[in-house]
Amino acid sequence: MMQTTSTTLVVIGGGPGGYIAAIRAAQLKIPTILIEGDQLGGTCLNIGCIPSKAMIHAAEEFEKAKHYAHGSSIGIQVSDPSINIEQTVSWKDGIVKRLTSGVGALLKKNGAQVIKGWAQIIDGKTVAVIQDGKEVQRITCQHLLIASGSTPVELPFMPFGSSNGKVISSTEALSPTEVPKKLVVVGGGYIGLELGIAYRKLGAEVAVVESLDRILPAYDEELTKVVKTALKQLGIEVHLGCTVQGMNADHSAVRIKNAAGEESELTCDKVLVAVGRRPRTEGFGVESLMLDMNGRAIKIDDQCRTSMRDVWAIGDVAGEPMLAHRAMAQGEMVAEIIAGKRRHFMPASIPAVCFTDPELVVVGKSPQEAQAAGIEAISAMFPFAANGRSMTLESSEGFVRVVARKDNHLILGWQAVGKGVSELSAAFGLSLEMGATLEDVAGTIHSHPTLGEAVQEAALRALGHALHI
Ligand code: FAD
Repeated sequence: MMQTTSTTLVVIGGGPGGYIAAIRAAQLKIPTILIEGDQLGGTCLNIGCIPSKAMIHAAEEFEKAKHYAHGSSIGIQVSDPSINIEQTVSWKDGIVKRLTSGVGALLKKNGAQVIKGWAQIIDGKTVAVIQDGKEVQRITCQHLLIASGSTPVELPFMPFGSSNGKVISSTEALSPTEVPKKLVVVGGGYIGLELGIAYRKLGAEVAVVESLDRILPAYDEELTKVVKTALKQLGIEVHLGCTVQGMNADHSAVRIKNAAGEESELTCDKVLVAVGRRPRTEGFGVESLMLDMNGRAIKIDDQCRTSMRDVWAIGDVAGEPMLAHRAMAQGEMVAEIIAGKRRHFMPASIPAVCFTDPELVVVGKSPQEAQAAGIEAISAMFPFAANGRSMTLESSEGFVRVVARKDNHLILGWQAVGKGVSELSAAFGLSLEMGATLEDVAGTIHSHPTLGEAVQEAALRALGHALHI
């Protein structure tokens, strides 16, 4: 006989949004059931943030070895490095396994119940659990939290798996059985470029096709110019203002059309389509709730409430910015609101990091955004070329830029591009959340020699007295 259970909170989806919500709710003694149809950890841990950074790291190490093999000024000699891609993928899988089983252990330790199966929403207070196509359990709840994430957008004329498996999504790109000789990446956003660069370093010839006239359109152009130069140095072809038309007749090449309407072909062994992700709101009863939507995303307010009482949505299913740390922060907050705490999701900033080479970080407002908001702002940048630590790391491209109010020097935003700048994002975010001024950052002793000194110097420069430039 089918089991029926009652609980306070049902969470649909065990990605970073859902698992954090369930852990925090359980810590707050809210009876919680999390339903996950696939693997705990969601996109982020299984096929997103973590595996991509693992593959990027492996590619960077291999690239370094090749660099040394070609004779470097540093004096290290290496001969004929090679890579066993199967071993790389299994090393990456090991990291994923460690992290996802850690999530399971944390949920258990905190007392959240996990049910493996696909949730089907019956109404705002009832969810069915489907296993192998059959309903095995029905759960009634006071609160329903939808954290079902997102899926990669497919090009209808060349779906994933088509052309004898040549057309792949980021998921397949993270578990290659071999490095393709020629890879075409469709989409010059962060996922396409992070993986495109990694494949180039692993030995593939890479071409990127982007329909807009610039790469990484979500980032400040001054930053992306540095990445564009790096792509050229790496030997990655970039076709801007070009649209993909489909594969050619024998599936050996991608047909593209430029802005002038001229067609050409890019031969390839694989085509990675990375043209965005869409909220996962179809096929499990969301439609039946008749929620207010923002396109395909569930519309939420600043407490992640949907238009239906006690139905909540967090993370990618609630639209942009589709970032793991935003999903986690929302999950923690919803659990606390359900427990009776007064919370709002009003961060001063949500950092965005792009793990290309060099990396990009943007937090808060750019000079253009400050101007558009009618704020009189000052900004200053400090180049890594004048930072000692950068030189010792053999990388001096890029800069840190700070934006602050002109009247009281309150910091409004940070932008950085350079090797390793992802690690600066926490300090940037903290300065915004704490309401720091340029004087606060300039007056903080930063350890020497570190990339962080460029942060202090940018603040000093905005105040008119940088010391190292
Ligand atoms: P998800 O992580 O997508 O989790 C949703 C879960 O819900 C899934 O496990 C799914 O199986 C489950 N589910 C869906 N429907 C049901 C149902 N009906 N019943 C039961 N379970 C269901 N973000 C960053 O911040 N930094 C990065 O560096 C980064 N890199 C990325 C790299 C790649 C290649 C990709 C694809 C994404 C990357 N992201 C990154 C984005 C990040 O992965 C997402 O923003 C994040 O995973 C969203 O979390 P979520 O909890 O909303 O959803």
